[in-house]
Amino acid sequence: MVMPGGGHPFVAVLVAEEHVNWPRLKAKFDLWQVRGSVSTEFSKVEIRAARWVELEPAWHHGYPQPREHEFGYLEATYDLSDHCSECGTGKVQKAPFQMKAEPKWGRRGILQLNWVFDEYFVTPDVWASVFQPHGVGCRPVLDRKHSALKTVVQLAVEEQVDIDVTGLPSQTCGSCGRVKYLPHTRGFFPRLVKNPKAAMVKTNEVFGDGASAQHAVLVSQDIAQAMTNEKVKGASFKPVAAG
Ligand SMILES: [Zn+2]
Repeated sequence: MVMPGGGHPFVAVLVAEEHVNWPRLKAKFDLWQVRGSVSTEFSKVEIRAARWVELEPAWHHGYPQPREHEFGYLEATYDLSDHCSECGTGKVQKAPFQMKAEPKWGRRGILQLNWVFDEYFVTPDVWASVFQPHGVGCRPVLDRKHSALKTVVQLAVEEQVDIDVTGLPSQTCGSCGRVKYLPHTRGFFPRLVKNPKAAMVKTNEVFGDGASAQHAVLVSQDIAQAMTNEKVKGASFKPVAAG
């Protein structure tokens, strides 16, 4: 197969499950062992109606430091005494994250680092206009010489909440025995078991495949609207099911 421009023949297609030909395509894809992933698109109305939304990263920028090639950020950033390297659970942040340099923000205002899928970083302006008014704190981000970067802070999410895990596919780690849920891709994010006090929280439950493990990060509808009003680019919203 020859691609326009002569590149490597790799294509991605996006098909709605409601599409009339989806069952036939799915049979073909299964036959050809085509890798696929599922996601759900939500309307603005569905997002607006939710009391809570999951923040989903739309921009991953750079790698946590130091010693990127040997995952040096793990020891530098986390207390690993309860960490399981098999399943990735049990890390507790003990020090500021380090980045190579100021992020190249462009028009964006929120980012995630590669590998660190349960922390968000914003510009100080976005923190002051969107997150600080809702009681969300921040912590500094350092360069590799341990000087604080000027255009980025980490959002400090303190409160953790439980979600309803009924029916969520999970796996138990053979090494530490802790339970992890498969990445959530289809439909509304599972409902919260009780109402959080803070306006930005993480789930106690951990999601991921293999050695990756991350808490989901949720924000209140008020924060979601503030992000929309301030046109903060770099993340999107998935509605949390009503409790
Ligand atoms: Zn484990």
